[in-house]
Amino acid sequence: MVDIEARTELDGDVYRTLLESTKAIPWKIDWATMAFAYIGPQIESLLGWTPESWASVQDWIDRMHPEDRAWVVDFCVAQSKDGVDHEADYRALSKSGEYVWIRDVVHVVRNADGEVEALVGFMFDISERKRTEEKLLNMQRELERLSFKDGLTGVGNRRCFDKVLKNEWNCAQRSRQPLSLVMLDIDYFKQYNDHYGHIQGDNCLKRVGALLDSMATRPRDFLARYGGEEFVLVLPETDAQSARSMAERCRELIEQTQMPHEKSSAAPVLTVSLGVGAMIPDMADEPLSLIGAVDRALYQAKLQGRNRIAMADEP
Ligand code: GH3
Ligand code: MG
Ligand code: MG
Repeated sequence: MVDIEARTELDGDVYRTLLESTKAIPWKIDWATMAFAYIGPQIESLLGWTPESWASVQDWIDRMHPEDRAWVVDFCVAQSKDGVDHEADYRALSKSGEYVWIRDVVHVVRNADGEVEALVGFMFDISERKRTEEKLLNMQRELERLSFKDGLTGVGNRRCFDKVLKNEWNCAQRSRQPLSLVMLDIDYFKQYNDHYGHIQGDNCLKRVGALLDSMATRPRDFLARYGGEEFVLVLPETDAQSARSMAERCRELIEQTQMPHEKSSAAPVLTVSLGVGAMIPDMADEPLSLIGAVDRALYQAKLQGRNRIAMADEP
């Protein structure tokens, strides 16, 4: 005959051994007294606190990161009152003063009348997972940042330009403020490369990028490398005359930097040609119309002899 008493005893021992030899920390809260009826001894190796010092729910709350405390406590109390099993991630304070990421998985125990009687659960150490998540998030942010940057000059790339222009276009449509574009192309850059070599050509592009970037001083001014040796400035809330002055300052800055360019037919130093256009876009207007007009102006500046500025016709 099976001795039911003995079997229950045995099961109790087995359960205890199993519970106390897992990495997860088992616990039980008595709902009426809000006290811990049990907490696994593993709590001491994870957080440094003895099981005896983990007596009331308040101990649990006090040893939680202040930033997590309010929402975790509110959430767990609400779920428990509703009798819903739940889980929460938070940082628990260790005895040595550091925080450890914990996932608490909670099961609500009810009595025969359906009233909440106790909460039982496991605490899992998820700090390793959180570290990995954080690393991934940082890598994602870095990738996102890099995907908007031109690899050579460090200024915005074409993709970033498209995005910024679209945003500013929408703003200008709403605010009825003029939006200006300055497109700039290095004169006789093919000859520069042929004469000085590609490495110096690259260095020259970096230098021009940095010089132009130093001109984009207002918070929303934006510079991108549009293509090979072409750059573009987006100037929100700027009319044609102000954009023209800005373009003239850029042209002067590059000429006065006096980077030798022996093979240029425009000057003995590196120069740029610029196209400038401004627009208060209507709701039906597309950014391409302004880009097209400014590009045609740039072509005119080249035709008229380079190292100069041409204004776009009304697009
Ligand atoms: P223009 O005055 O009419 O603008 O003449 P250009 O020689 O500047 O124009 P063209 O379009 O004929 O040549 C542009 C040159 O820019 C060709 C190419 O070798 C160079 N280039 C484009 N991208 C890069 C780059 O990333 N690095 C280097 N070193 N050169 C580049
Ligand atoms: Mg070009
Ligand atoms: Mg060129």
